[in-house]
Amino acid sequence: MDRRSFLKTAIGSGAALNALSSDVSVFSLPAVSGSQSTGRNKELGHIIDTHIHLVRGNPDLKPIGDYGSRMTDVSDELKSEYLKHEMQQAGIGMSFGMGHRNGSKGDPLGIASTLRIAAHVPELRVIGIIDPSRTGHEHLLAIERQIERERNKIVAFKAYLGYLHFGPEAPGYTPYYKLAAKYKLPVIFHTGDVWSLKGKVKYAHPLRVDEVAVDHPSVNFVLAHFGNPWLLDAAEVIWKNDNVWADLSGLYVGDEKAVEGIAKSGALPEAIPGVVLSDLKKAITSLNRYDRILYASDWPFLPMTIYRKFVETLIPSAHYEKVFRANAEGLFKLKA
Ligand SMILES: [Zn+2]
Repeated sequence: MDRRSFLKTAIGSGAALNALSSDVSVFSLPAVSGSQSTGRNKELGHIIDTHIHLVRGNPDLKPIGDYGSRMTDVSDELKSEYLKHEMQQAGIGMSFGMGHRNGSKGDPLGIASTLRIAAHVPELRVIGIIDPSRTGHEHLLAIERQIERERNKIVAFKAYLGYLHFGPEAPGYTPYYKLAAKYKLPVIFHTGDVWSLKGKVKYAHPLRVDEVAVDHPSVNFVLAHFGNPWLLDAAEVIWKNDNVWADLSGLYVGDEKAVEGIAKSGALPEAIPGVVLSDLKKAITSLNRYDRILYASDWPFLPMTIYRKFVETLIPSAHYEKVFRANAEGLFKLKA
């Protein structure tokens, strides 16, 4: 089955996916016109995608669309196959999968389900979810035990600013910053717009991260989604603080139509809903700190090949190596 047929089936029928279980090749995309991807893998080395999802992180998230559901609402075996295939197609050598909120007592960081996939996909690392409303002694001890058990797999903490009605400076986060410093785990904040009507965006404004960046200088922080739409504010917080980075995830979230359009035309659309591309480009170029920007896709919002192509259009090729790989290696201490 070719991708066009798959997309047609997929858009039409929610049951299409299971029928494709053994045919993962349907997820390959045709080469994107003008793409610099071809042959670049070798030159670049393996790309690190620092922000993907294998489980729904938030119970109140808006639906993630057919493509996303198709990738994640399936068995662990199938999910592992899809992930491996997507990574291979896009030249991704390592990816970081987020956990989910409300992890159980034995899984306080909500990473058990992502770890199950990592058992099949050795190139997958995990990110633990922290919750400022859970600061009991027992909970924090359980987190330390889980970090020690999974030390080789955990690369960071993630905090859902906005989805949870706490700013980064909320006292409930302080014990987590201490753990982050102790275990040298960067803290990734959701920043910017939220995909939930229950979320409150004031808590997710990137400017608020300046306060904790100053107060916790031994912790490194990442502004997920570059603070979109407060891109220039995010750039200022990164510029000013040596311990703040941005990831480029979730800036392009397409629906099935967008994916189908790209597959058909081979070109990215000129306008992307939810992001002012000129602001994004301005924020990146005016910041001019390519050592502090991380490649990240927010897969499965879009196929990995498409997201990579999108980011290639944002970053000057002279800085690909840093943004697509080296910055993540340094920040997440991936090299011995
Ligand atoms: Zn995400």
